[in-house]
Amino acid sequence: MRSPVRVGRASLDAMTIAAIATPPGRGAIAIVRISGPQAGAIAMRLTRMPAPLRPRHAYAVNLHDARGALLDRGVALFFAAPKSYTGEDVLELHVHGSPVVARCVLEAAVDAGAAPAAPGEFTRRAYCNGKMKLSAAAAVADLIAAETRAAARAAAANLAGGLAAEIERLRRIIRGVLEELAGAIDFPDEVPEPERRALDATVASVEADLHALRRTGEIGRVVREGVSVAIVGPPNAGKSSLLNALLREERAIVSEMPGTTRDTIEEAIVVDGVPVRLIDTAGIRAHADLLESTGIERTIDALARARIALVTLDGSRPLGPAERDVLERTRERERVVFCNKADLGTVGARALAECEPIVGSVFDPLTQAALRAAIARVGWNDETIDLARPHLATAAEMMAATQALAALADARATLAAGEPVDLCAGDLQQAVAALGHVNGEDVAEEVVDGIFARFCIGK
Ligand code: GDP
Repeated sequence: MRSPVRVGRASLDAMTIAAIATPPGRGAIAIVRISGPQAGAIAMRLTRMPAPLRPRHAYAVNLHDARGALLDRGVALFFAAPKSYTGEDVLELHVHGSPVVARCVLEAAVDAGAAPAAPGEFTRRAYCNGKMKLSAAAAVADLIAAETRAAARAAAANLAGGLAAEIERLRRIIRGVLEELAGAIDFPDEVPEPERRALDATVASVEADLHALRRTGEIGRVVREGVSVAIVGPPNAGKSSLLNALLREERAIVSEMPGTTRDTIEEAIVVDGVPVRLIDTAGIRAHADLLESTGIERTIDALARARIALVTLDGSRPLGPAERDVLERTRERERVVFCNKADLGTVGARALAECEPIVGSVFDPLTQAALRAAIARVGWNDETIDLARPHLATAAEMMAATQALAALADARATLAAGEPVDLCAGDLQQAVAALGHVNGEDVAEEVVDGIFARFCIGK
Protein backbone atom coordinates (compact mmCIF):
# COMPACT_ATOMS: atom_id res chain seq x y z
CA MET A 1 0.00 0.00 0.00
CA ARG A 2 1.47 3.35 -1.02
CA SER A 3 1.44 5.92 1.72
CA PRO A 4 -0.48 9.06 0.87
CA VAL A 5 1.08 12.45 1.51
CA ARG A 6 -0.60 14.50 4.19
CA VAL A 7 -1.30 18.13 3.45
CA GLY A 8 -1.38 20.69 6.23
CA ARG A 9 1.35 18.89 8.18
CA ALA A 10 2.69 21.09 10.95
CA SER A 11 6.27 22.01 10.20
CA LEU A 12 7.32 23.41 13.56
CA ASP A 13 9.77 20.59 14.06
CA ALA A 14 10.99 20.77 10.45
CA MET A 15 14.64 21.21 9.69
CA THR A 16 15.66 24.67 8.51
CA ILE A 17 16.86 24.51 4.92
CA ALA A 18 19.03 26.82 2.83
CA ALA A 19 19.95 27.09 -0.85
CA ILE A 20 21.10 29.53 -3.49
CA ALA A 21 17.89 30.44 -5.32
CA THR A 22 19.47 32.15 -8.34
CA PRO A 23 21.11 30.35 -11.29
CA PRO A 24 24.83 29.55 -11.18
CA GLY A 25 27.16 32.09 -12.76
CA ARG A 26 27.70 35.81 -12.37
CA GLY A 27 24.85 38.32 -12.26
CA ALA A 28 23.75 41.54 -10.65
CA ILE A 29 22.26 39.80 -7.62
CA ALA A 30 22.36 36.32 -6.09
CA ILE A 31 19.75 35.22 -3.55
CA VAL A 32 20.29 32.78 -0.71
CA ARG A 33 17.00 31.52 0.65
CA ILE A 34 16.52 30.01 4.09
CA SER A 35 13.27 28.44 5.34
CA GLY A 36 12.36 26.91 8.69
CA PRO A 37 12.11 27.67 12.39
CA GLN A 38 15.78 28.72 12.62
CA ALA A 39 15.54 31.33 9.84
CA GLY A 40 15.17 34.26 12.26
CA ALA A 41 18.07 33.14 14.46
CA ILE A 42 20.27 32.58 11.41
CA ALA A 43 19.43 36.10 10.23
CA MET A 44 20.68 37.51 13.52
CA ARG A 45 23.84 35.36 13.43
CA LEU A 46 24.79 36.36 9.89
CA THR A 47 23.84 40.05 10.12
CA ARG A 48 25.04 40.56 13.72
CA MET A 49 21.83 42.50 14.30
CA PRO A 50 20.95 42.71 18.01
CA ALA A 51 17.19 42.31 17.52
CA PRO A 52 15.05 40.06 15.29
CA LEU A 53 14.35 41.38 11.81
CA ARG A 54 10.90 42.88 11.33
CA PRO A 55 8.95 40.80 8.80
CA ARG A 56 8.57 42.25 5.30
CA HIS A 57 11.13 45.01 5.82
CA ALA A 58 14.20 45.37 3.64
CA TYR A 59 17.39 45.80 5.67
CA ALA A 60 20.78 46.81 4.24
CA VAL A 61 23.08 44.53 6.18
CA ASN A 62 26.65 43.30 6.49
CA LEU A 63 26.87 39.53 6.28
CA HIS A 64 29.46 37.64 8.31
CA ASP A 65 30.62 34.05 8.46
CA ALA A 66 30.84 31.98 11.67
CA ARG A 67 34.30 33.39 12.50
CA GLY A 68 33.09 36.94 12.05
CA ALA A 69 34.72 37.64 8.68
CA LEU A 70 32.76 40.06 6.48
CA LEU A 71 31.39 38.25 3.38
CA ASP A 72 29.34 40.92 1.64
CA ARG A 73 27.00 43.84 2.11
CA GLY A 74 23.52 42.97 0.94
CA VAL A 75 19.78 43.13 1.61
CA ALA A 76 17.98 40.91 4.12
CA LEU A 77 14.25 40.21 3.94
CA PHE A 78 12.41 38.23 6.60
CA PHE A 79 8.94 36.68 6.17
CA ALA A 80 7.32 35.28 9.32
CA ALA A 81 5.32 32.05 9.19
CA PRO A 82 2.73 31.46 7.88
CA LYS A 83 2.83 34.48 5.55
CA SER A 84 5.69 33.31 3.36
CA TYR A 85 6.24 31.20 0.22
CA THR A 86 6.80 28.01 2.22
CA GLY A 87 4.45 28.83 5.06
CA GLU A 88 7.47 28.78 7.42
CA ASP A 89 9.78 31.56 8.59
CA VAL A 90 11.75 32.53 5.49
CA LEU A 91 14.90 34.62 5.18
CA GLU A 92 16.09 35.94 1.83
CA LEU A 93 19.60 37.33 1.55
CA HIS A 94 20.25 39.33 -1.61
CA VAL A 95 23.98 39.52 -2.17
CA HIS A 96 26.27 40.62 -4.99
CA GLY A 97 25.92 38.22 -7.91
CA SER A 98 29.18 36.34 -7.54
CA PRO A 99 28.98 32.55 -7.29
CA VAL A 100 31.75 32.68 -4.64
CA VAL A 101 29.94 35.19 -2.45
CA ALA A 102 26.65 33.29 -2.74
CA ARG A 103 28.38 30.03 -1.82
CA CYS A 104 30.12 31.62 1.20
CA VAL A 105 26.80 33.05 2.46
CA LEU A 106 25.15 29.65 1.99
CA GLU A 107 27.98 27.99 3.93
CA ALA A 108 27.60 30.57 6.71
CA ALA A 109 23.87 29.73 6.90
CA VAL A 110 24.71 26.02 7.09
CA ASP A 111 27.29 26.73 9.83
CA ALA A 112 24.56 28.61 11.69
CA GLY A 113 22.28 25.56 11.67
CA ALA A 114 20.59 25.19 8.27
CA ALA A 115 20.71 22.04 6.12
CA PRO A 116 21.27 22.26 2.35
CA ALA A 117 17.87 22.06 0.61
CA ALA A 118 16.93 19.28 -1.81
CA PRO A 119 15.60 20.19 -5.30
CA GLY A 120 12.13 21.72 -5.03
CA GLU A 121 12.13 21.49 -1.24
CA PHE A 122 10.90 25.05 -0.71
CA THR A 123 7.90 24.47 -2.98
CA ARG A 124 7.33 21.03 -1.49
CA ARG A 125 7.11 22.65 1.94
CA ALA A 126 4.68 25.22 0.50
CA TYR A 127 2.50 22.33 -0.71
CA CYS A 128 2.80 20.35 2.57
CA ASN A 129 1.92 23.45 4.59
CA GLY A 130 -1.21 23.98 2.49
CA LYS A 131 0.12 27.17 0.86
CA MET A 132 -0.24 25.74 -2.61
CA LYS A 133 -2.25 22.99 -4.34
CA LEU A 134 -0.34 20.25 -6.12
CA SER A 135 -1.51 21.49 -9.54
CA ALA A 136 -0.06 24.94 -8.74
CA ALA A 137 3.23 23.35 -7.60
CA ALA A 138 3.42 21.46 -10.91
CA ALA A 139 2.78 24.79 -12.67
CA VAL A 140 5.75 26.33 -10.84
CA ALA A 141 8.00 23.64 -12.36
CA ASP A 142 6.38 24.15 -15.80
CA LEU A 143 6.83 27.91 -15.58
CA ILE A 144 10.52 27.59 -14.75
CA ALA A 145 11.00 24.99 -17.50
CA ALA A 146 9.03 27.01 -20.09
CA GLU A 147 10.93 27.47 -23.33
CA THR A 148 8.24 29.32 -25.24
CA ARG A 149 5.89 32.16 -24.40
CA ALA A 150 2.96 29.77 -24.81
CA ALA A 151 4.36 27.40 -22.20
CA ALA A 152 4.94 30.28 -19.79
CA ARG A 153 1.43 31.67 -20.36
CA ALA A 154 -0.21 28.29 -19.83
CA ALA A 155 1.79 27.54 -16.68
CA ALA A 156 1.00 30.99 -15.24
CA ALA A 157 -2.74 30.28 -15.70
CA ASN A 158 -2.49 27.16 -13.54
CA LEU A 159 -0.22 28.82 -11.01
CA ALA A 160 -2.93 31.40 -10.39
CA GLY A 161 -5.04 28.58 -8.92
CA GLY A 162 -7.86 28.48 -11.49
CA LEU A 163 -7.58 24.72 -11.98
CA ALA A 164 -7.66 24.02 -8.25
CA ALA A 165 -10.73 26.25 -7.89
CA GLU A 166 -12.60 24.56 -10.76
CA ILE A 167 -11.84 21.12 -9.31
CA GLU A 168 -13.14 22.23 -5.90
CA ARG A 169 -16.31 23.64 -7.47
CA LEU A 170 -17.10 20.30 -9.14
CA ARG A 171 -16.34 18.38 -5.93
CA ARG A 172 -18.67 20.65 -3.95
CA ILE A 173 -21.54 19.89 -6.34
CA ILE A 174 -20.99 16.12 -6.08
CA ARG A 175 -20.72 16.34 -2.29
CA GLY A 176 -24.07 18.19 -2.33
CA VAL A 177 -25.64 15.24 -4.17
CA LEU A 178 -24.06 12.84 -1.66
CA GLU A 179 -25.56 14.81 1.23
CA GLU A 180 -28.99 14.60 -0.38
CA LEU A 181 -28.56 10.84 -0.75
CA ALA A 182 -27.24 10.39 2.78
CA GLY A 183 -30.53 11.41 4.37
CA ALA A 184 -32.51 8.92 2.30
CA ILE A 185 -29.96 6.16 2.91
CA ASP A 186 -29.69 6.67 6.68
CA PHE A 187 -33.37 7.32 7.36
CA PRO A 188 -35.24 5.53 4.56
CA ASP A 189 -38.55 5.71 6.43
CA GLU A 190 -38.41 9.43 7.19
CA VAL A 191 -36.50 11.04 4.32
CA PRO A 192 -38.00 10.56 0.86
CA GLU A 193 -35.69 9.46 -1.92
CA PRO A 194 -34.45 12.48 -3.92
CA GLU A 195 -36.00 12.90 -7.34
CA ARG A 196 -33.93 10.77 -9.73
CA ARG A 197 -34.27 13.07 -12.71
CA ALA A 198 -32.96 16.05 -10.72
CA LEU A 199 -30.06 13.97 -9.36
CA ASP A 200 -29.16 12.79 -12.83
CA ALA A 201 -29.30 16.34 -14.21
CA THR A 202 -26.86 17.54 -11.53
CA VAL A 203 -24.44 14.65 -12.12
CA ALA A 204 -24.75 15.19 -15.89
CA SER A 205 -23.83 18.87 -15.53
CA VAL A 206 -20.70 17.96 -13.55
CA GLU A 207 -19.90 15.35 -16.19
CA ALA A 208 -20.21 17.94 -18.98
CA ASP A 209 -17.99 20.43 -17.13
CA LEU A 210 -15.44 17.72 -16.49
CA HIS A 211 -15.47 16.71 -20.17
CA ALA A 212 -14.76 20.35 -21.01
CA LEU A 213 -11.96 20.40 -18.44
CA ARG A 214 -10.48 17.23 -19.89
CA ARG A 215 -10.43 18.86 -23.33
CA THR A 216 -8.15 21.51 -21.81
CA GLY A 217 -5.54 18.73 -21.70
CA GLU A 218 -5.07 19.74 -25.34
CA ILE A 219 -3.51 23.00 -24.07
CA GLY A 220 -0.88 21.01 -22.21
CA ARG A 221 -0.27 18.94 -25.33
CA VAL A 222 0.09 22.02 -27.53
CA VAL A 223 2.56 23.52 -25.10
CA ARG A 224 4.56 20.30 -24.73
CA GLU A 225 4.41 18.89 -28.24
CA GLY A 226 3.46 21.88 -30.35
CA VAL A 227 0.63 22.37 -32.84
CA SER A 228 1.04 19.97 -35.73
CA VAL A 229 0.71 21.46 -39.20
CA ALA A 230 0.76 19.14 -42.24
CA ILE A 231 1.98 20.86 -45.41
CA VAL A 232 0.01 19.10 -48.15
CA GLY A 233 -0.47 19.70 -51.85
CA PRO A 234 0.41 18.41 -55.31
CA PRO A 235 4.05 17.85 -56.26
CA ASN A 236 5.99 20.92 -57.32
CA ALA A 237 3.58 23.32 -55.61
CA GLY A 238 6.38 24.57 -53.36
CA LYS A 239 5.83 22.57 -50.15
CA SER A 240 9.50 21.91 -49.44
CA SER A 241 10.34 25.52 -50.34
CA LEU A 242 7.64 26.60 -47.90
CA LEU A 243 9.01 24.39 -45.13
CA ASN A 244 12.46 25.80 -45.76
CA ALA A 245 11.21 29.36 -45.82
CA LEU A 246 9.44 28.88 -42.50
CA LEU A 247 12.48 27.21 -41.03
CA ARG A 248 14.68 29.87 -42.60
CA GLU A 249 17.21 27.19 -43.43
CA GLU A 250 17.55 24.68 -46.23
CA ARG A 251 16.82 21.38 -44.56
CA ALA A 252 14.46 19.53 -46.92
CA ILE A 253 15.69 18.66 -50.44
CA VAL A 254 14.18 21.09 -52.94
CA SER A 255 13.97 19.74 -56.45
CA GLU A 256 12.37 20.64 -59.80
CA MET A 257 11.37 16.99 -60.35
CA PRO A 258 7.80 16.32 -59.26
CA GLY A 259 7.48 13.80 -56.44
CA THR A 260 10.94 13.85 -54.84
CA THR A 261 9.63 14.47 -51.35
CA ARG A 262 8.73 10.85 -50.78
CA ASP A 263 8.78 10.67 -47.04
CA THR A 264 7.44 13.02 -44.41
CA ILE A 265 9.81 15.46 -42.77
CA GLU A 266 9.05 17.00 -39.40
CA GLU A 267 10.55 20.22 -38.12
CA ALA A 268 9.78 22.47 -35.17
CA ILE A 269 9.37 26.23 -35.31
CA VAL A 270 7.91 28.79 -32.94
CA VAL A 271 5.06 30.97 -34.21
CA ASP A 272 3.75 33.79 -32.04
CA GLY A 273 5.36 32.15 -29.02
CA VAL A 274 3.71 28.77 -29.66
CA PRO A 275 5.68 25.70 -30.77
CA VAL A 276 4.61 24.36 -34.17
CA ARG A 277 5.57 21.04 -35.71
CA LEU A 278 5.64 21.30 -39.48
CA ILE A 279 5.06 18.04 -41.34
CA ASP A 280 6.12 18.17 -44.98
CA THR A 281 4.46 15.39 -46.94
CA ALA A 282 4.90 13.70 -50.26
CA GLY A 283 2.81 15.27 -52.99
CA ILE A 284 -0.72 14.06 -53.45
CA ARG A 285 -0.98 13.10 -57.14
CA ALA A 286 -3.57 11.24 -59.13
CA HIS A 287 -1.15 8.99 -61.10
CA ALA A 288 1.64 7.95 -58.81
CA ASP A 289 4.18 5.15 -58.92
CA LEU A 290 4.36 2.57 -56.13
CA LEU A 291 6.87 4.46 -54.01
CA GLU A 292 4.79 7.57 -54.33
CA SER A 293 1.62 5.77 -53.33
CA THR A 294 3.35 4.90 -50.06
CA GLY A 295 4.08 8.62 -49.79
CA ILE A 296 0.43 9.36 -50.40
CA GLU A 297 -0.53 7.02 -47.60
CA ARG A 298 1.85 8.92 -45.38
CA THR A 299 0.25 12.17 -46.51
CA ILE A 300 -3.17 10.87 -45.56
CA ASP A 301 -1.75 9.63 -42.27
CA ALA A 302 -0.02 12.97 -41.61
CA LEU A 303 -3.28 14.75 -42.37
CA ALA A 304 -5.06 12.54 -39.87
CA ARG A 305 -2.47 13.32 -37.19
CA ALA A 306 -2.13 17.04 -37.84
CA ARG A 307 -4.29 19.67 -36.26
CA ILE A 308 -4.03 22.00 -39.24
CA ALA A 309 -3.68 21.29 -42.97
CA LEU A 310 -1.56 23.87 -44.77
CA VAL A 311 -2.79 23.23 -48.31
CA THR A 312 -0.14 24.44 -50.75
CA LEU A 313 -1.04 24.81 -54.42
CA ASP A 314 0.61 26.28 -57.48
CA GLY A 315 -1.79 29.20 -57.91
CA SER A 316 -0.13 30.41 -61.10
CA ARG A 317 -1.70 27.65 -63.21
CA PRO A 318 -5.32 26.60 -63.74
CA LEU A 319 -6.48 24.09 -61.15
CA GLY A 320 -6.14 20.43 -62.15
CA PRO A 321 -7.39 17.16 -60.65
CA ALA A 322 -4.51 17.01 -58.13
CA GLU A 323 -5.45 20.43 -56.74
CA ARG A 324 -9.13 19.49 -56.57
CA ASP A 325 -8.24 16.24 -54.84
CA VAL A 326 -6.29 17.86 -52.02
CA LEU A 327 -8.92 20.55 -51.58
CA GLU A 328 -11.60 17.86 -51.36
CA ARG A 329 -9.59 15.80 -48.83
CA THR A 330 -9.15 18.81 -46.54
CA ARG A 331 -12.61 20.37 -46.98
CA GLU A 332 -13.83 19.44 -43.50
CA ARG A 333 -10.50 20.24 -41.84
CA GLU A 334 -9.04 23.17 -40.00
CA ARG A 335 -6.97 24.44 -42.89
CA VAL A 336 -5.06 27.30 -44.43
CA VAL A 337 -5.12 27.40 -48.26
CA PHE A 338 -1.98 28.88 -49.77
CA CYS A 339 -1.78 29.69 -53.49
CA ASN A 340 1.91 29.87 -54.22
CA LYS A 341 3.93 31.21 -57.17
CA ALA A 342 1.95 34.45 -57.51
CA ASP A 343 5.06 35.90 -59.17
CA LEU A 344 4.27 33.62 -62.15
CA GLY A 345 0.51 34.30 -62.25
CA THR A 346 -2.74 33.90 -60.29
CA VAL A 347 -5.13 32.01 -62.61
CA GLY A 348 -5.59 29.14 -60.13
CA ALA A 349 -5.68 31.44 -57.11
CA ARG A 350 -8.53 33.49 -58.62
CA ALA A 351 -10.60 30.35 -59.15
CA LEU A 352 -10.32 29.60 -55.42
CA ALA A 353 -11.62 32.91 -54.08
CA GLU A 354 -14.29 31.21 -51.94
CA CYS A 355 -11.55 29.39 -49.93
CA GLU A 356 -10.08 32.81 -49.00
CA PRO A 357 -6.58 31.63 -49.88
CA ILE A 358 -3.36 33.38 -49.01
CA VAL A 359 -1.96 34.38 -52.40
CA GLY A 360 1.73 35.10 -52.77
CA SER A 361 5.13 33.52 -53.12
CA VAL A 362 6.89 31.38 -50.62
CA PHE A 363 10.03 33.43 -51.26
CA ASP A 364 8.28 36.69 -50.25
CA PRO A 365 8.71 37.63 -46.55
CA LEU A 366 5.24 39.26 -46.47
CA THR A 367 3.66 35.99 -47.66
CA GLN A 368 5.61 34.09 -45.03
CA ALA A 369 4.36 36.49 -42.34
CA ALA A 370 0.77 36.06 -43.57
CA LEU A 371 1.16 32.27 -43.40
CA ARG A 372 2.50 32.42 -39.85
CA ALA A 373 -0.41 34.65 -38.81
CA ALA A 374 -2.90 32.27 -40.46
CA ILE A 375 -1.40 29.25 -38.66
CA ALA A 376 -1.76 31.11 -35.35
CA ARG A 377 -5.35 32.16 -36.13
CA VAL A 378 -6.52 28.70 -37.11
CA GLY A 379 -4.32 26.84 -34.64
CA TRP A 380 -4.85 28.38 -31.23
CA ASN A 381 -6.28 31.88 -31.28
CA ASP A 382 -9.76 30.51 -30.88
CA GLU A 383 -12.06 29.15 -28.19
CA THR A 384 -10.73 25.59 -28.28
CA ILE A 385 -7.20 26.39 -27.21
CA ASP A 386 -7.09 29.38 -24.95
CA LEU A 387 -3.63 29.34 -23.44
CA ALA A 388 -4.70 31.71 -20.69
CA ARG A 389 -7.20 29.15 -19.34
CA PRO A 390 -6.52 26.85 -16.39
CA HIS A 391 -5.99 23.36 -17.74
CA LEU A 392 -5.06 19.78 -16.94
CA ALA A 393 -1.31 19.88 -17.46
CA THR A 394 0.10 16.56 -16.25
CA ALA A 395 -0.59 12.93 -17.16
CA ALA A 396 -1.60 12.27 -13.54
CA GLU A 397 -4.16 15.10 -13.68
CA MET A 398 -5.58 13.73 -16.94
CA MET A 399 -5.82 10.26 -15.41
CA ALA A 400 -7.63 11.60 -12.35
CA ALA A 401 -10.16 13.39 -14.57
CA THR A 402 -10.69 10.22 -16.61
CA GLN A 403 -11.27 8.17 -13.44
CA ALA A 404 -13.73 10.75 -12.13
CA LEU A 405 -15.62 10.70 -15.46
CA ALA A 406 -15.85 6.89 -15.37
CA ALA A 407 -17.23 7.03 -11.81
CA LEU A 408 -19.81 9.65 -12.80
CA ALA A 409 -20.88 7.54 -15.79
CA ASP A 410 -21.34 4.54 -13.45
CA ALA A 411 -23.41 6.64 -11.07
CA ARG A 412 -25.67 7.79 -13.91
CA ALA A 413 -26.05 4.23 -15.23
CA THR A 414 -27.15 3.11 -11.75
CA LEU A 415 -29.73 5.90 -11.62
CA ALA A 416 -30.99 5.14 -15.12
CA ALA A 417 -31.30 1.40 -14.40
CA GLY A 418 -33.69 2.17 -11.56
CA GLU A 419 -31.42 0.55 -8.99
CA PRO A 420 -31.51 1.82 -5.38
CA VAL A 421 -30.04 5.33 -5.17
CA ASP A 422 -27.62 4.37 -2.42
CA LEU A 423 -25.77 2.23 -4.97
CA CYS A 424 -24.58 5.32 -6.81
CA ALA A 425 -23.23 6.95 -3.62
CA GLY A 426 -20.05 4.84 -3.84
CA ASP A 427 -19.45 5.96 -7.42
CA LEU A 428 -19.93 9.59 -6.48
CA GLN A 429 -17.50 9.22 -3.58
CA GLN A 430 -14.97 7.77 -6.02
CA ALA A 431 -15.45 10.76 -8.33
CA VAL A 432 -14.84 13.17 -5.41
CA ALA A 433 -11.69 11.24 -4.43
CA ALA A 434 -10.34 11.07 -8.01
CA LEU A 435 -10.81 14.83 -8.46
CA GLY A 436 -9.05 15.38 -5.14
CA HIS A 437 -5.92 13.81 -6.63
CA VAL A 438 -5.60 16.77 -9.02
CA ASN A 439 -5.31 19.09 -6.03
CA GLY A 440 -2.92 16.78 -4.22
CA GLU A 441 -5.29 15.07 -1.78
CA ASP A 442 -4.39 11.49 -0.90
CA VAL A 443 -1.84 11.30 -3.67
CA ALA A 444 0.79 8.57 -3.62
CA GLU A 445 4.21 9.72 -2.45
CA GLU A 446 5.69 8.71 -5.84
CA VAL A 447 3.40 11.14 -7.67
CA VAL A 448 4.47 13.99 -5.39
CA ASP A 449 8.12 12.92 -5.70
CA GLY A 450 7.73 12.89 -9.50
CA ILE A 451 6.50 16.48 -9.52
CA PHE A 452 9.23 17.79 -7.24
CA ALA A 453 12.00 15.82 -8.96
CA ARG A 454 11.61 18.28 -11.85
CA PHE A 455 12.55 21.25 -9.69
CA CYS A 456 15.92 22.86 -9.32
CA ILE A 457 17.63 23.41 -5.97
CA GLY A 458 16.52 26.64 -4.34
CA LYS A 459 12.94 26.55 -5.68
P1 GDP B 1 7.16 20.48 -53.62
O1 GDP B 1 7.28 19.35 -54.58
O2 GDP B 1 5.75 20.88 -53.40
O3 GDP B 1 7.89 20.27 -52.31
O4 GDP B 1 7.83 21.76 -54.34
P2 GDP B 1 9.29 22.39 -54.17
O5 GDP B 1 9.34 23.19 -52.93
O6 GDP B 1 10.30 21.33 -54.42
O7 GDP B 1 9.28 23.45 -55.37
C1 GDP B 1 9.19 23.07 -56.72
C2 GDP B 1 9.80 24.11 -57.59
O8 GDP B 1 9.02 25.31 -57.58
C3 GDP B 1 11.23 24.52 -57.16
O9 GDP B 1 11.98 24.74 -58.31
C4 GDP B 1 10.99 25.84 -56.44
O10 GDP B 1 12.10 26.68 -56.49
C5 GDP B 1 9.86 26.43 -57.24
N1 GDP B 1 9.06 27.39 -56.46
C6 GDP B 1 8.54 27.21 -55.24
N2 GDP B 1 7.85 28.31 -54.85
C7 GDP B 1 7.94 29.21 -55.85
C8 GDP B 1 7.44 30.55 -56.06
O11 GDP B 1 6.76 31.14 -55.23
N3 GDP B 1 7.74 31.14 -57.24
C9 GDP B 1 8.49 30.52 -58.19
N4 GDP B 1 8.73 31.19 -59.32
N5 GDP B 1 8.98 29.28 -58.03
C10 GDP B 1 8.72 28.61 -56.89
